[in-house]
Amino acid sequence: MESIGRLSSRVLEHLSDPVVKSAVKVKSTILGEASSFLRGKNFVELLPTIVSPITDPLNHEVHTTRFTYYDQEYRLTQSMIFHKQLACKSFERIFIVSPNVRLETSEKALSGRHLFEFSQIDLEIRNAKREQIMSLIEDLIITVMLSVKRNCSEEMDFLSSDPSIPSKPFATVKFMDAYEQYGKDFETILSASFSEPFWLIDFPIWEREFYDLLSEDKRTLKDMDLILPHGFGETLSGGEREWEHQRILERMGFKGNDPEELSWYMDIAEGGELVPTAGCGIGVERLTRYVCSLDNVSRTRLFPKVPGQSWI
Ligand code: AMP
Ligand code: MG
Repeated sequence: MESIGRLSSRVLEHLSDPVVKSAVKVKSTILGEASSFLRGKNFVELLPTIVSPITDPLNHEVHTTRFTYYDQEYRLTQSMIFHKQLACKSFERIFIVSPNVRLETSEKALSGRHLFEFSQIDLEIRNAKREQIMSLIEDLIITVMLSVKRNCSEEMDFLSSDPSIPSKPFATVKFMDAYEQYGKDFETILSASFSEPFWLIDFPIWEREFYDLLSEDKRTLKDMDLILPHGFGETLSGGEREWEHQRILERMGFKGNDPEELSWYMDIAEGGELVPTAGCGIGVERLTRYVCSLDNVSRTRLFPKVPGQSWI
């Protein structure tokens, strides 16, 4: 552990870093523009859920965030996926700028892409299909990038960042095609070779959580990732969702998830009360890192939380 004196000077240094200040200003523009874009399309903004007995089980290892309060066990939110599905009972279109706490393991410290506290622009639409979400996001990304060019020219000049505005529709690559052509590092290879964002779709069933909708082929999912070019990698995951109780149980069995962990959510599913939805979450820090051409997401936040490091 660092000494308090050393840590406080690192905090002060970070707060006055002109690169950090420029990136935080660009991030603020991205958030403002994304919110007005979504409001303009009749989305209702929800405030984030920070603690709940249920949260996304994720598809990779993280340290636990469980705590007990008056005999009830809670978790910090790893993603709002289940709350988004339920919110679509009340509203057709919802979004949240959602803080996620994922206590990532320390080997992610040097990835440049991981924090243990980050935010998603998280949205969901009742009765939507994956392609509708993809088209919406393409418009959102283009709108946001144009706004940054218009409103943050000083910061972008300072950062020497000038990403090209992508054109619609973005290219689409199927997961298994990419895997067969480039092997297991296909995402890194493709991200480095593309010069505009592109979609990776149709992940195989074992690659993702139980809640991504299984296609009729029973092997691939109705899901997608948005991959940024020039090696910046993934910035969004989403898809259509499972909403029927029996299918959810089967998928949980396949992944080894415990239905007890999701208690009242599973009761609601059993009562036939879930609705079909599709949606996605955009990693705000990763999108900002790309727009600003930064080496590390930690420079997009005033108070970054880097996995495995003591920080502010
Ligand atoms: P996921 O649904 O798990 O793919 O998360 C949605 C998005 O959040 C990802 O596409 C990333 O942009 C972002 N994200 C996920 N984990 C992290 C992390 N540890 N640090 C920063 N951003 C993250
Ligand atoms: Mg993902």
